[in-house]
Amino acid sequence: VPTITVIGAGLAGSEAALAAASLGVRVRLYEMRPTRMTPAHRSGNFAELVCSNSLGGEGEMQSKGMLQAELRSVGGQIVAAADASRLPAGNALAVERDEFSGRVTELVRQHPLIEVLGEEVTAVPEGITVIASGPLTSDALAADVARLTGSERLSFYDAAAPVIAAESINFEVAWKAGRYDQSADYINCPFTKEEYLTFFDALEGARAHTPHDWEKLEFFDGCMPIEEIARRGVDTPRFGPMSPKGLDNPRTGRWPYAVAQLRQEDREGRMWSLVGFQTGLKWGDQKTVVNLIPGLENAEIVRYGVMHRNTYLNAPQVLESTLQLRADPTKLVAGVLAGTEGYLESAATGWLAGINAARLALGQPALTPPAESMLGGLTRYLASANPKGFQPMNVNWALVPELPLPEGKRKWGKREKRPFMFRRGLDAFMGWAEQEAGLTVTPPPVPV
Ligand code: FAD
Repeated sequence: VPTITVIGAGLAGSEAALAAASLGVRVRLYEMRPTRMTPAHRSGNFAELVCSNSLGGEGEMQSKGMLQAELRSVGGQIVAAADASRLPAGNALAVERDEFSGRVTELVRQHPLIEVLGEEVTAVPEGITVIASGPLTSDALAADVARLTGSERLSFYDAAAPVIAAESINFEVAWKAGRYDQSADYINCPFTKEEYLTFFDALEGARAHTPHDWEKLEFFDGCMPIEEIARRGVDTPRFGPMSPKGLDNPRTGRWPYAVAQLRQEDREGRMWSLVGFQTGLKWGDQKTVVNLIPGLENAEIVRYGVMHRNTYLNAPQVLESTLQLRADPTKLVAGVLAGTEGYLESAATGWLAGINAARLALGQPALTPPAESMLGGLTRYLASANPKGFQPMNVNWALVPELPLPEGKRKWGKREKRPFMFRRGLDAFMGWAEQEAGLTVTPPPVPV
């Protein structure tokens, strides 16, 4: 029986080990806890939830719900353990955390094909390996993964900027242009002086009630949080990332008082990040501040800015959509290390990496799920996103292709199309899993 190695029994690694074993492959699974703990974990349990106890909203209106359904259809064990440990939480999949991780630990430990080794891996081993050591990967392993991928460093304090859904931007106010007639690659949101001062006051107010424990940290140039830039004075953002220079507003023919710019995040241009707006503000405050940017009054934030220590690869530079490393296709990466964010996303990429590792061990090619599915959309994004300033990604509706308008219909209501996208994606995923991956598929119940 062929053997693969999995590093890390977190959300991604546990699912990877169980998925690979389900195909009849032997798994050597390394987990360093409890011998060596991370700064966030509290136990030696596998798939420990380090913060919230929710795996996201359920049902056909939710992108996480779609990913849950895809995993249920192929017998994903993390979602099954979550279903069996669930707590009432409206339409979210929330769990009793100890029961949940206890179940996963038992499933893994009792599996006859999985051997658990309680030690830290300090170098990526020979042979087919899934690296799933997470956002708090130990330093020695992070250094070896950096070497293997040719990355300079993988661990740093993250300061990510909010990402906005393009369809929620008001183009009666915003316009596309580059500075001084460079190519029109940016979306520009113009401020009058009055609008800028209102925005600045809100930013200052929000900063005042944000915990400051990361203030002592050194930030790299170009990675200073917007609220820290603002602390230096009312005009500092306007002479920094919010400079209006070289941007003629087509509606006035003049440079505005200040400008917020957005840069494209995905190939289709459906997600745009606010340039220079990396932030650690609380999410409610971020929404308030972002909605004060002219043109973003109704902006939908698909990923909030965050600030925390993190370890992850610049996925678009190094990963295939099969989750194989381009530099060495016998090595697969899953979870946060692969550039995803979230418990569910980690489990889902773990599932795919486990299936693909087992397929490689059995002499079969690695696969990518269809673009219409949430998992396929996510791993395709990882392989093809803009590598400049790449940040880990949650699932969201902009990862899957736009839905064509039925004949005679002029516009989709914002939420109206989601059940169609859900159904299209789930059907494509189940068809792929059955026909291409040769897996047993069971249509999952879909909570509405
Ligand atoms: P993990 O679940 O962390 O698993 C990695 C495993 O690898 C760990 O068990 C670790 O002990 C082990 N390991 C590390 N290095 C080695 C080594 N060298 N050898 C052997 N084993 C090793 N996501 C959410 O959806 N909701 C949240 O509320 C949330 N809060 C978060 C809070 C914090 C502080 C952090 C850091 C992240 C949070 N995330 C959250 C993001 C992410 O979803 C979780 O971190 C998730 O657990 C990632 O899954 P993973 O499998 O990639 O990593």
